[in-house]
Amino acid sequence: MSQVSDRSGAPIKVLVPKLPTASAIAPYLARIDASRIYSNYGPLSREFSASLSKLTGAAGVTLTCNGTAAIELALRAKSCSKGGICIMPAFTFIASTHAVCNAGLTPFLVEVDPDTLMVTPEIAEAALQQLDTLPAAVLVVSAFGAPPDFDDWMAFEVKHGIPVVFDAAAAVTSVFDRVGAQPVCVSLHATKVLGIGEGGAILSADADFTESTTAMTGFGFLGSERLSAIRGGNYRISEYAAAVGLAALEALPTRLDRLRLLIDAYATRLKNKEARLQPGAGDEWVTMTLNVVLPEKSVASTLDKLAAAGVEWRRWWGLGCHRHPAFADVPRTDLSATNSLAKCVIGLPFHEDLSEADIDRVVACLP
Ligand SMILES: *Cc1c(COP(=O)(O)O)cnc(C)c1O
Repeated sequence: MSQVSDRSGAPIKVLVPKLPTASAIAPYLARIDASRIYSNYGPLSREFSASLSKLTGAAGVTLTCNGTAAIELALRAKSCSKGGICIMPAFTFIASTHAVCNAGLTPFLVEVDPDTLMVTPEIAEAALQQLDTLPAAVLVVSAFGAPPDFDDWMAFEVKHGIPVVFDAAAAVTSVFDRVGAQPVCVSLHATKVLGIGEGGAILSADADFTESTTAMTGFGFLGSERLSAIRGGNYRISEYAAAVGLAALEALPTRLDRLRLLIDAYATRLKNKEARLQPGAGDEWVTMTLNVVLPEKSVASTLDKLAAAGVEWRRWWGLGCHRHPAFADVPRTDLSATNSLAKCVIGLPFHEDLSEADIDRVVACLP
């Protein structure tokens, strides 16, 4: 952490995205110039896909044009586009709800565990009691990059016969060797830890599933014949996006080391405070955002202090999907726990340029 810069008066930004520089991307662009292949699963896309497979330990990778499309396609493939209900948490980024609806499913919004901020099999089972039909799917959302409990969700799927899809948009670096047959959807948006601008991927250990979802990204063409074997669309990434991805992967280990140091710096300062980090943050996983959960009684005063200290903060997921006008009519369980919890989850400044002094200034505002 740089001690040199004195920015004591300047506002501290909540997020400052950083993608590979033009010079880091240039060698890959030269390969595109030479091959004159610009899209359609070209050599750079295939190489990026193989590298993502190595990074995540997932045997199968389907690259998509963004994370929302990854979720939508995985749900379409798993629900066989038959429609029906999809159980999902109300506390998530609104993209999850758009993806569920675009997959032809009706969201059924449920609560999350107040500790992990994620839906649990118990919560989903309680929701089953309230529905008269068997849902088509459950969408489990990784809370800001925390790994969901993959084993529990596999047991849930086996027990109830309901497919589970993971919206693990921010979790590309926290699912290593954990990806099974249940699809894990990640985002490669500029604000995520492996940002390429716009992009996403569906990870899976099921080779047939990966073949289908990959075909769905390119008009459902299977094999080399230009025949639509399954319904899909155009959800591919171009070779230019893959070029950024390959350059971003080179920089990833250094970035992760740096982000881990920053979480440590926060965690040390938060030791005797009431504000808490998500379970495992820093020790078990790291991502591009850092959230604290505040005691409900201290939220208003803390936000005042942050504002007075010139510290930007953000409720990355707002107050829950049910609060958005576009989803006001979506069916749900009682969401009083989410209504209390969502207010208390505050995204703090977290990016590679933060200094020790910056972190002191942020933490001084926290209860
Ligand atoms: C970022 C994010 C998405 C959307 O990913 P895009 O690549 O922006 O489409 C979906 N769900 C969650 C939880 C996210 O954080």
